[in-house]
Amino acid sequence: MTDTRLVVVGAAGRMGRMLVATIADTAGVVLAGATERPGSPALGQDAGTLAGLGAAGVAVTDDAAAALAGADAVVDFSSPAASVALAALAAERGVAHVVGTTGLGEADLAALAEAARRIAVVRSGNMSLGVNLLAGLVRQAAAALGDDFDIEILEMHHRHKVDAPSGTALLLGEAAAAGRGVDLAQRSVRVRDGHTGARGAGDIGFAALRGGSVVGDHSVVLAGAGERLELAHRAEDRGIFARGAVRAALWTRGRPPGLYSMADVLGLA
Ligand code: NAP
Repeated sequence: MTDTRLVVVGAAGRMGRMLVATIADTAGVVLAGATERPGSPALGQDAGTLAGLGAAGVAVTDDAAAALAGADAVVDFSSPAASVALAALAAERGVAHVVGTTGLGEADLAALAEAARRIAVVRSGNMSLGVNLLAGLVRQAAAALGDDFDIEILEMHHRHKVDAPSGTALLLGEAAAAGRGVDLAQRSVRVRDGHTGARGAGDIGFAALRGGSVVGDHSVVLAGAGERLELAHRAEDRGIFARGAVRAALWTRGRPPGLYSMADVLGLA
């Protein structure tokens, strides 16, 4: 089989640069295009040089349609608006879409589902093996312990992160809700401030900390009467997300249209 041709969206971003470096390091994939938003100072620069490597021979462009020509998959860690626009374009061009962007709202998710009728879309709030394994453990623990154990999800990220709770915290919340057989939207408590009253039985609480350069820490606490279980993951390096995303892109090759998760890619579903 020929090398899988990948386009990196947001190639000058923190994850974009890591993706370009990971593609250069991975057998069977080749960087076929790199995009940034119109007006970005990175336009015209070599994506490899931006990533701190030698020149890759791929200039960063704001013309996503041109970048997608002849590509097999596009790997996208950008912004909700950019990801939604790209999903429509990828569906039109028959290019698989790997979406790591977080902070997507209901309408954004509906737009991805629409694209997934025509192409393979892999979306996950966390592309790492460890967190997807953790989600399985959280689901199992939530099912085993029942709602006399209170579930709280704590996360900390670097000071530049713009959305909260993190996509990973929500992924873990979904896993806990699935274990309990409840709908997260009905049970989640995302903010506490002032006189909140006592905690509701069966609530799934979230707390977000921001600061410094933390790549991503998540803990799920299951607190019962007289004992407490804590399941945690610490990301030390963005490479874990980039490697997961490239693995997902390879996995889409020849895959029928549909909306997939990292659990599907990793065979954990
Ligand atoms: P970042 O450094 O801000 O990178 C995002 C990049 O996308 C920026 O360079 C941004 O450009 C660019 N961009 C914005 N609109 C664009 C468009 N229309 N076309 C092309 N590029 C565009 O952020 P990051 O830390 O890399 O994170 C990006 C996203 O990935 C966030 O949602 C984050 O939460 C998520 N994330 C997910 C995972 C996971 O495993 N799923 C892991 C880490 C991060 P400007 O800065 O010029 O606007």
